[in-house]
Amino acid sequence: MLIKVCLNGSRKPGDHPALPITPAELAADAHRAVQAGAGACHAHPRGQDGVETLDPGACDVVALAIRKACPGVPIGFSTATWIEPDQTDRLELIRGWVERPDFASVNFSDPGVLELCRLLRRLGIGIEAGVWTVADAEALSDSGYSRQLVRVLVEPQDIEPVEAEATAAAISAALDHAGVDAPRLYHGYGMATWRVMEFALDGGWDIRVGLEDTLHLPDATIASGNAELVAVALEMARKIGRLHGGLATEQEAGHQQHGALQTVSWRCTRRLAGA
Ligand SMILES: [Zn+2]
Repeated sequence: MLIKVCLNGSRKPGDHPALPITPAELAADAHRAVQAGAGACHAHPRGQDGVETLDPGACDVVALAIRKACPGVPIGFSTATWIEPDQTDRLELIRGWVERPDFASVNFSDPGVLELCRLLRRLGIGIEAGVWTVADAEALSDSGYSRQLVRVLVEPQDIEPVEAEATAAAISAALDHAGVDAPRLYHGYGMATWRVMEFALDGGWDIRVGLEDTLHLPDATIASGNAELVAVALEMARKIGRLHGGLATEQEAGHQQHGALQTVSWRCTRRLAGA
């Protein structure tokens, strides 16, 4: 199974003391997350001002820095329209990437999805289809790209854990119905993070965690950073019995042998979810 770390997302500098913003911070934090069990990294590169950007100069530096810190670990970037709302500019910037990421996430609720997928395919960048709703799942099925994906990201936007889990289940059913058989990775946001993760692990799917999604551990205390969030997710996977097939990268397997894992109480997700 795969645990992908989402290092920073759209969070603003200072939202969390350990939020990585600069290329050096992203690289160092990615390394720590990989040591903790992450098998892939997702980042939102920033400009000098700390604001999200698709600018090739900024993105290339981040890709290079993370690759140097985490050799062999696949990395991906966001392509969200809120980073660059103008479709022509968005495609032009992505076309300028030289140190291309292994994959990029495409929100199927965004306009211009087909053009973007076509460009990513041409550039040799894997497509992660971001599916927020049942309608997005249907749009993916209709797009013609459902068999050309690195994975589907099932991303319920609900803040309430129970509602997020219900959305994840509805999206799963829609993907099954449409015959979308790409690998799936699930994640929620805020306090829904852990409930959605448990749902995914029970179903045998991949997961993601990181400061983009949540600043909090299952017991509602503030996480020290991305590495701790990954370690807690790994422990949850272990308890649900998802580690029989091993983790998704050699780095992770090596880490398992060293056994530097934290023991955490995650069952309180149920309490937080009100169940
Ligand atoms: Zn993101």
